[in-house]
Amino acid sequence: MTVYNFSAGPAVMPTSVLKQAQSELMDYQGSGMSVMELSHRSSLFDAILKDAKKHLRELMNIPDNYHVLFLQGGASLQFSMVPLNLAQNKKALYVNTGVWSKKAIAAAKALDNVEVEVIASSEADNFSYIPTITPDMIDQNAAYLHITTNNTIVGTAFQNIPDTGNVPIVADMSSNILANNYNVKDFGLIYAGAQKNIGPAGLTVVIIRDDLLGLCEVKEPMLDYKVQADADSLYNTPPTFAIYMAQLVFKWLQELGGIPEILKQDQEKAQLLYDAIDKSKLFTSPIQSTSRSITNIPFVTGDEKLDQKFNADALAAGFENLKGHRSVGGMRASLYNAFPKEGVKALVAFMEKFEKENGG
Ligand code: PLP
Repeated sequence: MTVYNFSAGPAVMPTSVLKQAQSELMDYQGSGMSVMELSHRSSLFDAILKDAKKHLRELMNIPDNYHVLFLQGGASLQFSMVPLNLAQNKKALYVNTGVWSKKAIAAAKALDNVEVEVIASSEADNFSYIPTITPDMIDQNAAYLHITTNNTIVGTAFQNIPDTGNVPIVADMSSNILANNYNVKDFGLIYAGAQKNIGPAGLTVVIIRDDLLGLCEVKEPMLDYKVQADADSLYNTPPTFAIYMAQLVFKWLQELGGIPEILKQDQEKAQLLYDAIDKSKLFTSPIQSTSRSITNIPFVTGDEKLDQKFNADALAAGFENLKGHRSVGGMRASLYNAFPKEGVKALVAFMEKFEKENGG
């Protein structure tokens, strides 16, 4: 049975990358050592680290005045590091578009000397849309505006990045980094857990503009972006294997044609599924059409029992991890960069068959 993995993360990896990693697991480039065994201070690993950063810079067109940091602690640690480094004794603005935004807001509120203002929220409507942010909503004295570009659980995404004047935008891009046509220059700081479009869990990518380093006093060295940038991501032992895997994924993506090509493929995959949902009499999308994510696509029957049956039948047919997040229920297909188009076609066929058999 063919298995398709719709996991929201850790997510499906490109097969060619897994094969290369398999071959280099025992003997990395004739060194007689596993890639996992390389010292993080060795020239072999240094080459991996430099190459990974170079490819990411090329893929995302990252300007020279931005640092690329490879950290740990997941996107969740960034919820605290961002206000700690940028907003002590200042005000920080947030847009509340889902569970992850709420966690980011809560982490900022936990700091005594940060004033948090939520300038817009779609919570009253089950986060079914992305609120419009206009320049007049932005206090120009704020340290930053935080947004979650893609809301993994509810399936919404910012289609445009707001104009905030001189206030830097901080973006949690965990679930649509390398799957959008945003411009890095529109952000002061971007962060993402790696485990969706980049590589294994354990690596967190931070892209930060030069002038945002060293703004606040951070007494904990590991949490200080400036310390991490000065040490070139080697302040402590970095997640070496995850960085190696990320390097392979970045190369894979560049060889494929970079962001323009993957975006085309991702949009095609998403369109196939949205078309099927829109024409179905059984399945509906809980999300407003203008806010739809192309990465995480939820759908429901409106009947909890039927959703459960669909999930059970789908699992038995080889569709893994389609069940919606425990906080929202229903179904959710996560179509990250490495997810194959055939998997979407197979899911659509399965949905049509289910609808016929279950009175759609
Ligand atoms: N932000 C978003 C948008 C996410 O999707 C996730 C995890 O799925 C997180 C933050 C939390 O990431 P982590 O588990 O790496 O801390």
